Amino acid sequence: MDTVITKKKFNFFAGPAILPASVLKQATAATEDFAGMGLSILEISHRSKQFAAVMDESASLAKELLGLDDNFEVLFLTGGASSQFYMAPMNLLPSTGTACYVDTGTWSAKAIKEASMFGNVKVLASTKESNYTSIPKNYEIPSDATYLHLTSNNTVFGTQHESFPETNVPIVCDMSSDIFSRPIDVNKFGLIYAGAQKNMGPAGVTLVIVRKDMLNKVDRAIPTMLDYNTHIKKGSAFNTPPAFPIYVSMLTMRWVKENGGVAAMAAKNEEKAQLLYNEIDANPFFKGTTSVEDRSKMNVTFAMNDPKLEEVFFEACTAADCVGVKGHRSVGGFRASIYNAMPKEGVQTLVDVMKDFANKNG
Ligand SMILES: *Cc1c(COP(=O)(O)O)cnc(C)c1O
Repeated sequence: MDTVITKKKFNFFAGPAILPASVLKQATAATEDFAGMGLSILEISHRSKQFAAVMDESASLAKELLGLDDNFEVLFLTGGASSQFYMAPMNLLPSTGTACYVDTGTWSAKAIKEASMFGNVKVLASTKESNYTSIPKNYEIPSDATYLHLTSNNTVFGTQHESFPETNVPIVCDMSSDIFSRPIDVNKFGLIYAGAQKNMGPAGVTLVIVRKDMLNKVDRAIPTMLDYNTHIKKGSAFNTPPAFPIYVSMLTMRWVKENGGVAAMAAKNEEKAQLLYNEIDANPFFKGTTSVEDRSKMNVTFAMNDPKLEEVFFEACTAADCVGVKGHRSVGGFRASIYNAMPKEGVQTLVDVMKDFANKNG
């Protein structure tokens, strides 16, 4: 069969999202022959020693990249980040306990809804009134809370926690859209979860990092598959794990490591975000949609001063091979997702389209 080589476009979609080109290449090869087994990664046994090695390396890379010590367990589960909205409170929140949540967007709101089924939920702060254009600050965190739930990066609205609150209450954090994008102080966290398809790999696997002392404090019955202990005991292979998404996530984590780790990612992400926000602020046709101090370095949201031009600009992006720059339907305007794997060249191409647009229409 002939292979048609098409030019790879710059993928600005929020998720499933861009993966490093070298990762896609290795993943492609593994679908034909994995680890010299003469079988595809898609057809090998999850009990094979070759796949056990993938599981081991994936967990140790996650630990190494984030600087986790042996107090943490690393799991690769299914059901998406959305399943963690209920699995986290089911496993961590006693029915008499209180979980605190900060409502910073669509995903936080969904997490709050699920947690309410398991115990007391206190929403400490919310920016819903302003359509989530900023991150709440200076709210009081009750010291007896079981945990504080945060969404580190708000994929839909384009805001991000620049830092995390100083508190002794363990933070449970949805890091789906900024995991491995910057160094974090892991000691603040009791649980971290992330759907792979934003910054780590393809859809189908969810990274869950749990601090051991968070567990075994609830007395409710937990179905076997929903109990973190089950997956800890079985090394994330109690049932058939999603081998391919885990393998591609492992390749991406290797890529992060080879490229200098999360600190180097942070420096690159900062540079890319500055490049784009500078253009949004300087270009008379565009404006940012969030408060400046809370701007996300992963999902850059912006709009046009004249909304009638949005269609034309979107077409110009597409013509320049910048795809997926549309804003989420609840926000409108544009959103450029510039995760770890987005090269600076991609952001520069988008910036050039914006400059060019201003020159032609100014
Ligand atoms: C995409 C996303 C989710 C949902 O992830 P699924 O894996 O589709 O369940 C949750 N939280 C955040 C912050 C996200 O960006």
